[in-house]
Amino acid sequence: MNEVYDVTIIGGGPSGLYSAFYSGLRNLKTKLIESQSVLGGKVNLYPDKILWDVGGLTPITGKKFLSNCITQGLTFHPTVCLNTEISQITNTAGIFDIRASNGDHHYSKTVILAYGSGIITPNKLDIDGVERFERTNLHYIPNSLHAFRNKQVFLSGGGNTAIEQANELLSIAKRVTLGYRGNELRAHEHSVDAFRKNGGTLLLETQIHSFRGNHLGEIEAVSLSVAGEARTITADAVIVNHGFASKQAIGFDEALGLRFTEHHFIEGSPDSTLDCSGIFAAGDAISYTGKVNLLVGAFQDAVNAVNSVKQYLNPAAEKQAMVSSHNEAFAEKNRQVSL
Ligand SMILES: Cc1cc2nc3c(=O)[nH]c(=O)nc-3n(C[C@H](O)[C@H](O)[C@H](O)COP(=O)(O)OP(=O)(O)OC[C@H]3O[C@@H](n4cnc5c(N)ncnc54)[C@H](O)[C@@H]3O)c2cc1C
Repeated sequence: MNEVYDVTIIGGGPSGLYSAFYSGLRNLKTKLIESQSVLGGKVNLYPDKILWDVGGLTPITGKKFLSNCITQGLTFHPTVCLNTEISQITNTAGIFDIRASNGDHHYSKTVILAYGSGIITPNKLDIDGVERFERTNLHYIPNSLHAFRNKQVFLSGGGNTAIEQANELLSIAKRVTLGYRGNELRAHEHSVDAFRKNGGTLLLETQIHSFRGNHLGEIEAVSLSVAGEARTITADAVIVNHGFASKQAIGFDEALGLRFTEHHFIEGSPDSTLDCSGIFAAGDAISYTGKVNLLVGAFQDAVNAVNSVKQYLNPAAEKQAMVSSHNEAFAEKNRQVSL
């Protein structure tokens, strides 16, 4: 823990992973810290979605894309700390003291903030004892909708993501029932029409009251109120899509002088520099004129952040790394790659 790293990247989403790759390319001693138990950031929220807008990639699922990002991010073997929520950053005598909420301290000459929109957690059901079903068939962020093949699924939610999920499930599951507490869905009308037309059952003014479990600890029926009337429907799986809460967990020492937008993003420059020397930012966490809040934007920020780190640590260093096709760092690795 007391080791001082050249750069510590906070956030293991696409921008943090690409920063880790690029800082390895620039020979920086690198640590990557992520609050969740897995790397990947927000892309974990849409594993089955197909991405079309990442340069140089033909359509690819979120899951496959993430797997590639993680493999690439670990190319130069950064130190990775999972389940580590950073809560405080201060600077003492030129070294950043990065404190985690578990009390650990991480020390670094520079920091790249790649924390996206903060720590994102799904809004959970407020029903006593419901946690026990999270181990079986109550899902907030399903790993893959294919796990619901031939199942009777009850999905609770009314936003665009919920109805999109419900529509995707129609071709996979045996039966899809969508329950929403309001009397009109907030989602796009054409998606709602498609859901009804393709055989989905929509229940409005619906709230989950409790679950009936079986001897395996799985939900087998959902007790609901539908427009004020009690109703029970059988279910092999329940998905709850009630949106997400995000928490910006880091308290920055005021002396660092960072500025934030009204939506809590860090104000910076296109080269990923901030008002505090030694701290840089990449991806959704940073805001500047012309910022692109897409995966491609996250990658560009990561390159800029790492190059800025390198220059900060060694003003005589090249402004940019040599392109990978001509870079000696890959000479041995190229021999191992079979294409
Ligand atoms: C539903 C959805 C669909 C999308 N579809 C597309 C698309 O099709 N194409 C596209 O280009 N973009 C898409 N995006 C946007 C894209 O996912 C983001 O631009 C990208 O994930 C930003 O990456 P990031 O690494 O900056 O942030 P994130 O992916 O948010 O990762 C940040 C990471 O930092 C961690 N973290 C936060 N705070 C702390 C802390 N205090 N300590 C430790 N770790 C912390 C978080 O847990 C998270 O893992 C989509 C976004 C959403 C929500």
